[in-house]
Amino acid sequence: MAQPTIQNEENPYDAMLYRFDVAAEKLGLDPGVYKILKIPDREITVSVPVQMDDGSLQVFRGYRVQHSIVRGPGKGGVRFAPNVNLDEVRALAAWMTWKCAAVNVPFGGAKGGVICNPKELSRGELERLTRRYMAMIMDIIGPDRDVPAPDMNTDPQIMAWMMDTYAMHQRHAEYGIVTGKPLELGGSHGRIRATGYGVGLMTREALIRQGMDPKSCTGVVQGAGNVGGVSADALANMGIRILAISDVDMTIYNSKGLDMMALKAHLREHRGSLAGFQGGDILGPQEVLTMDADILVPAATENVITSKNAGDIKAKIIVEGANGPTTPNADKILEDKGVFVVPDILGNAGGVTVSYFEWVQNRLGYYWDERDVNDRLEKIMVNAFQEVCGMADRQGTSARIGAYMLSVERVAAVHKLRGIYA
Ligand code: NAD
Repeated sequence: MAQPTIQNEENPYDAMLYRFDVAAEKLGLDPGVYKILKIPDREITVSVPVQMDDGSLQVFRGYRVQHSIVRGPGKGGVRFAPNVNLDEVRALAAWMTWKCAAVNVPFGGAKGGVICNPKELSRGELERLTRRYMAMIMDIIGPDRDVPAPDMNTDPQIMAWMMDTYAMHQRHAEYGIVTGKPLELGGSHGRIRATGYGVGLMTREALIRQGMDPKSCTGVVQGAGNVGGVSADALANMGIRILAISDVDMTIYNSKGLDMMALKAHLREHRGSLAGFQGGDILGPQEVLTMDADILVPAATENVITSKNAGDIKAKIIVEGANGPTTPNADKILEDKGVFVVPDILGNAGGVTVSYFEWVQNRLGYYWDERDVNDRLEKIMVNAFQEVCGMADRQGTSARIGAYMLSVERVAAVHKLRGIYA
């Protein structure tokens, strides 16, 4: 196998492939299995025509990529954003394969997206876009095939429309078709908070590993949406003083620590947006990343920690809530500085783990309370953290490469057992 190289550090698919290559090389991965896992199993591009409120017709472009379904149905969110592109969706789909394997839930990896700006769409336009996108990808979707979920700019209401569209075609309700649904429609207790709650659990474990006391630590969070907002709350609940949180437009900084009750109330009303929040000084949106704090949680988007700013990061621990926030070139710089990074495929796996619980509950027709969900989540994530660190320590590598090695090994083992259907 050739020495792994990175083509373009800010192309998420190149970044994913680079880490996969490093893990494959260290594992001595079978060359045939390597070839299978390097390329997504299936990709579809769809045209999504939508009747706009003013009577005009707009055609949006959508994608669904299944990277691997060898361990179980594809699992992965649907992103609505103007900068969605096929390489991003491919990377996100592959990360789902590795993430599901890292926490050992029986799913493969998939992801979807539509190029659109949801802020410019009315509720009716958003519903029509969602339903037509679902209708266009439905041939490869199903509770045993591929199960979508929310991601950036998609929420439980959008999942409800997706579920209803599928149900109308099947002629019966089918709750296990998407996760992240509202509770009344077969959603799971704990799903909305699951990713941020998981970030909190992984921060706790990282602090124990590094011998640090949360009560004397400070933290900063990039992103004030579902993952960022709940992560900030979860860290504060451990006694960590949250100095700053940011959104796409600004960072809010308070050296005494943000008023978490006021922040939570604000974010409940303005999901993902800090505009109008009075709790501190307003700084530029990127300033949050290089602030003087013990813990940094990037929970917004990809490629925010790169070779350009990694040298300026002051945090001792980074727990990745977003997918792909750190480029491979930045990894090297952080490693040299001794920063402990909990990689995305572990750090934000709380969401997919509770999505798995939701899917299980839908199939059982029997529902668990929030405590039950959180206890099961904690058991799975803490176990995964120990397995990832165990692999990293045995191999003398970072937790990120340890996580990739653990996941690739698990997926490869299933390929070996199943063989090739000819
Ligand atoms: P969200 O839409 O609820 O919130 C996104 C937040 O990031 C907002 O505050 C937004 O203002 C900010 N933001 C967007 N673009 C930015 C940019 N370029 N620079 C700085 N800030 C920016 O989204 P979310 O569901 O919280 O997802 C955030 C990240 O977490 C994504 O990478 C997503 O793939 C990942 N993730 C989400 C879940 C989940 O359960 N929602 C699970 C796993 C991973």
